[in-house]
Amino acid sequence: MTTQTSYTMTIGGQAVSGATSFEVLNPATGQVIGSAPDCTPEQLDAAVAAARKAFPAWSATPIEKRREALLGIAGVLGGNVEELKRLLTSEQGKPHEGAMGDVLGGAYWCQATSTLEIPEKVVEDSAERHGITRHVPIGVVGAIAPWNFPIILAMFKVAPALLAGNTVVLKPSPFTPLTTLRMGELLRGVLPDGVLNIVTGGDALGPWMTSHPGIDKISFTGSSATGRKVMASASETLKRVTLELGGNDAAIVLPDVDIAEVAEKLFWAAFGNSGQICIATKRMYVHKDIYEPLKTAIVDYAKTVKMGDGAEQGTQLGPINNKLQYERVLDLIADSKAKGYKFLMGGDVSPAPGYFVPITIIDNPPENSRIVQEEQFGPVLPLLSFDTLEEAIDRANASPYGLGASIWTADEAKALDISSRIAAGTVWINETQHLSPLGAFGGHKQSGLGSEGALEGLLEYTNTQTVYVKKPAVAAAQ
Ligand code: NAD
Repeated sequence: MTTQTSYTMTIGGQAVSGATSFEVLNPATGQVIGSAPDCTPEQLDAAVAAARKAFPAWSATPIEKRREALLGIAGVLGGNVEELKRLLTSEQGKPHEGAMGDVLGGAYWCQATSTLEIPEKVVEDSAERHGITRHVPIGVVGAIAPWNFPIILAMFKVAPALLAGNTVVLKPSPFTPLTTLRMGELLRGVLPDGVLNIVTGGDALGPWMTSHPGIDKISFTGSSATGRKVMASASETLKRVTLELGGNDAAIVLPDVDIAEVAEKLFWAAFGNSGQICIATKRMYVHKDIYEPLKTAIVDYAKTVKMGDGAEQGTQLGPINNKLQYERVLDLIADSKAKGYKFLMGGDVSPAPGYFVPITIIDNPPENSRIVQEEQFGPVLPLLSFDTLEEAIDRANASPYGLGASIWTADEAKALDISSRIAAGTVWINETQHLSPLGAFGGHKQSGLGSEGALEGLLEYTNTQTVYVKKPAVAAAQ
């Protein structure tokens, strides 16, 4: 087990400490577990310069070598999963099993992305000329990640960016910087110097990146509020942007489901990672004919789930990751209490150490309540009763968000028809949260711009380039 508490940034393949550093807490205990460098503007300049310096050779490296490099990253993540998962649990709060999923998911994403092909298209082949459109790397990518899945969400960006021939400056959230810094330490020597730089800092660092003239593209995952700022800042230098933002995913549960079978699945759809998943079910619309029995089944199951320190065996749900988010969730609970909504369970937060919010289920609050309209990003679920399918679809779509949604029914044909009427980037039928590196993932409306995964996501790390070759004039026939 590691006793390391201080970690270095990776800039141009070298270890770089900060002039100052900031503390990182374990959200389950409130204890300081380590420190991360607070990157200065000069150090960010150095990271961008290192990435720019590495770009010509990396973009000219045959794609087969870049595929191998991704497999190299996957190997490092997989080979160090025990250390990384413990570190991740200690700074993120999620149970070890979930932390392992984050690290191995990142490895899998690299491996799967390495198999993608970048297409080239013949656009003209006439007597006069031959023309092709191809995809060329953009340059230096600034990748900004959130705190809920620090490794896999970073790899959603790093893997396609590198495969396409870009170099990267990666910034994790200040709430979960350590696992990413450690990954950078482990990757030194695996990638050429400067190809992947990792910097950490406080609130100023993200805006420095989005406005940095040496960064050509920003790939951002975080809240919609921050996404708007990122887009505004990136517009100054017309950087390309990919934005993966917040969500308020609806589940629509039709009356023909097997209640005993779906109750547990629906619970995890909403409460996995203590609700801190962009594609968690955040509003659950249940047909009125099964509302009472399904509500009872979900609450009964919820009572069997163990919340605690993610490092303890048997823990299924951890704390909220940080104070800011903890206070946001408590504010939504306080609002629901003040309005007199009925709590089926939870709602009372004990003053124990750690940012723990108990599993909280609210019984049919009004549609215009804050807990229905806002993204809670915590273990608090509004259960909502609906009468007609039309009404459920309208309520699901009546949101500025459009990240994901799920439909639960024994009637697959009906579910497919409903899916085509849902305004969201991903719709699941009888499951949630499955993501494939070969399926595009992105938000509609204010849940994002562009997508990640698959060819669509890969091409977001490229510019198109069309080349026309004029053919020599053919001599007139004799
Ligand atoms: P956040 O927006 O607060 O922070 C995300 C990242 O942006 C962090 O690294 C942060 O330091 C940085 N940042 C903060 N202000 C910035 C600025 N002005 N300019 C540039 N960077 C800045 O989000 P969070 O609280 O870390 O994550 C939770 C949110 O992320 C939720 O809304 C969740 O739904 C969303 N999320 C979306 C996806 C997705 O794929 N769509 C995935 C995970 C999380």
